[in-house]
Parts: sequence; structure tokens; C-alpha cells
Amino acid sequence: MDHNVSMLLEKIKVVAEQTRTGAVKAADRAGKKAGEMAQATRLNLQIFDRTTECEVLYKEIGKVIYDIHQGAETDEDVIERKLAQLDVLQGEISELRDELGALKTVCTCARCGRQCSRDDAYCAGCGSPL
Ligand SMILES: [Zn+2]
Repeated sequence: MDHNVSMLLEKIKVVAEQTRTGAVKAADRAGKKAGEMAQATRLNLQIFDRTTECEVLYKEIGKVIYDIHQGAETDEDVIERKLAQLDVLQGEISELRDELGALKTVCTCARCGRQCSRDDAYCAGCGSPL
């Protein structure tokens, strides 16, 4: 084979390899993004479920209070129990919101695993590009 032709073929192979590696990396990033998005969707759904449960409890507590106002005999613990359920749900909602917030602001360095801010261009731990 002509020397220039073989040089050219070698160059093309290198460029093709770089393009392929770049495409794989981009697909990796897209996959990670999709995974994070799925996780955010899951968290949002869990928050939504608990918020709905809270709305139901608010209504039930309101009904019990109105029944008492109307002179109905009511189990004293009913409101306490519903308030306790609300406390648990509100605690869970706040944890889920924190998790969601962390998901949005934090990314993990692929090289050293350090948690970095999404705004950072480089890892503060090892200096590799994020
Ligand atoms: Zn790093």
C-alpha cells in the first residue's frame, strides 16, 4: 500500500475511534441524566402521595371538630392519632424534598466519587472535568 494512503487510513481510524469514544461518553451522560430524572420523578410522586394523604387528614380532622361542635360523642384519641399521622407525613415530605434538592444540586465525580456542585466545571477533589 502507498505510504500516504496507509497514513491517511491510520488517521481516519484514530478520528473514528475518538468519535466513537465521544459518543459512548455522551450516551453515558445521557443515561445518568435519565436515571436522575427517573429518581426525581419517583421523589415527586412520593411527595404528591403524602401531600394527598395530608389533605385527607386535614379534612377528617375538620369533620371531627365540626362533629364535636355539633355535640357528637367523639373518641378523644381520634384527633391525636390524625395529628400524629400528619407529623409523620410532614416529616417524610420534608426528607423527600431535601433528597430532591440534593439530586438537583449535586453530581458525583466519575474519577474520585466526590460530591460536587452541578455548577462546578471541575472536581474540587481531583480536578478532573465534570
Ligand atoms: Zn474528582
